[in-house]
Amino acid sequence: MSSLIGGQGTGPDCKSPLLVASSAMRALILHGPGDLRLEDVPVPEPASGEVILAVLRALTCATDAKILRQGAHPSIVPVPAPLGHEACGVVSAVGDGALGVSVGDLMVVANSAPCGACPPCAVGRPSLCEHITYLSGAYAEYLRVPAPIVSRNLLPVPGGLAPERAAMVEPLACAVRGVERVEAGEGDEVVVLGGGTQGTLIAGLLAGRGCVVTVCDPHQERRERAIRFGGARAMDAPRDAAAIDALRAVHGDGRGPSAVVEAVGRPDAWQAAVSIVRPGGEVLLYGGCAPGTTVTFPTSPLHYGELSIRGSYHHTPDAVRAALAHLAADDAPYGELLGEPITLEEVPGALRAGSGLKRPVIVR
Ligand SMILES: [Zn+2]
Ligand SMILES: [Zn+2]
Repeated sequence: MSSLIGGQGTGPDCKSPLLVASSAMRALILHGPGDLRLEDVPVPEPASGEVILAVLRALTCATDAKILRQGAHPSIVPVPAPLGHEACGVVSAVGDGALGVSVGDLMVVANSAPCGACPPCAVGRPSLCEHITYLSGAYAEYLRVPAPIVSRNLLPVPGGLAPERAAMVEPLACAVRGVERVEAGEGDEVVVLGGGTQGTLIAGLLAGRGCVVTVCDPHQERRERAIRFGGARAMDAPRDAAAIDALRAVHGDGRGPSAVVEAVGRPDAWQAAVSIVRPGGEVLLYGGCAPGTTVTFPTSPLHYGELSIRGSYHHTPDAVRAALAHLAADDAPYGELLGEPITLEEVPGALRAGSGLKRPVIVR
């Protein structure tokens, strides 16, 4: 049994009937590399524990651009498959056993949920879950939310939070998880390599914690944005040994910063991060590099310098909740990470163009 709504919805931008019961909807379906088509498909019906969201806003993501290029990804079922994983919407149907959710609720959803039962989940490492459930299909009028995500990572939107800002919960949750892996605190100098969306979010979170953050990026407009997110200093990306020395020289009385966060996702930046940090410092290797790549590190600074090097992947249910609280409460200019709004028809072109800014997709 499930319930489908008709009539007016409760979304914040609702000026016309929002949730009209219908059997067909428009959805972007991935068919293969570079082949993403807007199609009429059946509106999903919720199975046990599932929820259907009438999508208000989706956000484009670099991951979707990569999936479109590759035509496949571990996070989506074999093609043809619906695409998109960042969304905010109104509950339009509730499957049996989906607790705490009602038709008409304005909700935001994370792009995955851990199983809660595998060995990593059992020891409190849900970002390493061996049976993670992914969400896919946000570029559509209606989105099926799988039962594990309903129970762990489907959250009500705090009052007053715009849907496109709420939909940023997933990228911010990844950044929250990343900074959980960094020990630097009040007054500690941290260098963030990379001023893209993730580097900027990480810089803002660390600055909010009281760290003195330097963001390195080759683009002037990103450096300026990093300052508005709370960065104390912004510098060009270090491209050679002389630039790395110069970066060390202006931190820690010439010994280098306490911590370096790599948010570029290239092996050379991973190596630079280890070269920049001071003895006794910590390095977070955050940016995912291309499959099959490797790095080499000089052994001496790791050994004699007692460096702490960590990785970070994805997010946790706690990080998702913390991210939503940040979006609702922070005065950080999160909207600067969003580009011009687009329609479902414009998503394939926007993903191919890859402007660097996330694009809000106005679904209804
Ligand atoms: Zn994403
Ligand atoms: Zn698990």
